[in-house]
Amino acid sequence: MSWNTVVGLEIHAQMATQSKMFCACRRQAGAVPNSNICPVCVGWPGALPVLQGEAVRCAIRAAICLGCDIQELSRFDRKNYFYPDLPKGYQISQFYHPYALGGSIPFTRDDGSAAVLPLVRIHMEEDAGKSSHEEDGTSRIDLNRCSSPLLEIVSEPLLMSGTEAASCVRSVRALLRWVGVCDGDMEKGNLRCDVNVSVMPEEAVEFGTRAELKNLNSFVSIERSVVVETARQIEVIEGGGQVVQETRLWDQDKEVTASMRGKEDSPDYRYFPEPDLPVVWITEDDIQQQSGSLPEMPEDRRQRWLKEYDFPEREVVPLLSRRENGDYLESLILEGVKPASASNWFRGEILKQLNEREERIEVFPVTAQSLALVIKAVEEDRISVATGKELLQKSLDKGSDLKTLLESTDEQVQDEGALGEWVDQVLSENEDAVNKIRGGDDRAIGFLVGQVMKLSKGQAHPKKVQELMRARI
Ligand code: ADP
Ligand code: MG
Ligand code: ZN
Repeated sequence: MSWNTVVGLEIHAQMATQSKMFCACRRQAGAVPNSNICPVCVGWPGALPVLQGEAVRCAIRAAICLGCDIQELSRFDRKNYFYPDLPKGYQISQFYHPYALGGSIPFTRDDGSAAVLPLVRIHMEEDAGKSSHEEDGTSRIDLNRCSSPLLEIVSEPLLMSGTEAASCVRSVRALLRWVGVCDGDMEKGNLRCDVNVSVMPEEAVEFGTRAELKNLNSFVSIERSVVVETARQIEVIEGGGQVVQETRLWDQDKEVTASMRGKEDSPDYRYFPEPDLPVVWITEDDIQQQSGSLPEMPEDRRQRWLKEYDFPEREVVPLLSRRENGDYLESLILEGVKPASASNWFRGEILKQLNEREERIEVFPVTAQSLALVIKAVEEDRISVATGKELLQKSLDKGSDLKTLLESTDEQVQDEGALGEWVDQVLSENEDAVNKIRGGDDRAIGFLVGQVMKLSKGQAHPKKVQELMRARI
């Protein structure tokens, strides 16, 4: 029998706000454990939460760029459970009335076609703290993350594989980063994903029973866990058994999924409306304000770039994965670099450097302004491409200012005196070649220019050298 895989996603994105969701504590990770906490976020009795506008504005931006229907009125509920990293004994979430319904995520099907994954809803909720279990048997609890603002994005079960699921998560991550809603670092845990998987015979019309794979934190684990879980479920059914609805954990090293809890022992969260918070009221004005302040979206940028800069499609698409990359490239163009060379330099040198340095363009030490000077010097034939790249490398290695480096190189190359000395030296050392040229055999000129390049360690400009040489011969 042939089987189809059915996949639905629950994506948790930590919003990139300054403060937490219901108090003024800093959200940022990496602080000394239990230093960013207050009576509200650790739930001291009587401490009252206050919804921070920043989190709501962030949530609105996410809903706009995913095309959701933003609800005028929504509400928070308590999800009750006990865990050491949740001192309040409940998580504030939106269960009955989420703030956003519908919407969709654009992604690429396995056959290469463009598609969209419809969303059920997005709701706001707070994160819990973090437990870490040491090898010596002790456990540590860090409450800094308590009450960090999260979005939970729930999709319809309409994906057909792990690669499609990964494509969707990539796409959401790119969009949320684009509008500054989420940092999207899966390895740091600020974007996590539960993947629901079921299988059904190819001709069936009803979905099979699903298993939920919890907390996948890389694209590889999303792809692999679906493959492995699909195979497991098919084996169960073909062996005469039944798939049970349960939560499973993915073991990346062993490449297996293991049952964490079944439906029977799944907790009853006893959701009820949060009595300490009023309803959330999002007006048309609030939505307008956010949509008015959104940056140009990837699709608009794609269209504009194709038209304005005449970039080939295949060059544009990868440049749309991070807004700041495109911003940098466009600054080069605004500084007077030709679009084609801006694109070449960015996709070649800059991406290579960012990769090697494991760095983002936002903190790249060479500004677009100074790099533009170098690229223009190349365009205007004042220095060679190789020299341009060397200067960039030197500036990065030594931390020296690229503009200063360029100026000293420029002088050297432009200085007819220095060029003249090199040319004279090469001419006097190669009389044979000079005589050949005088006799009408022009082929030796390339050799002579090459000698000057060697002498100048590649810094002389070949065209200028040739001009000087011809004048002298
Ligand atoms: P619950 O509220 O119990 O978690 P939902 O109906 O809200 O259940 O579904 C949660 C997630 O499970 C959604 O991402 C949805 O796409 C996915 N899902 C639902 N049914 C299936 C199924 N048969 N196969 C795969 N995924 C499913
Ligand atoms: Mg669920
Ligand atoms: Zn706090």
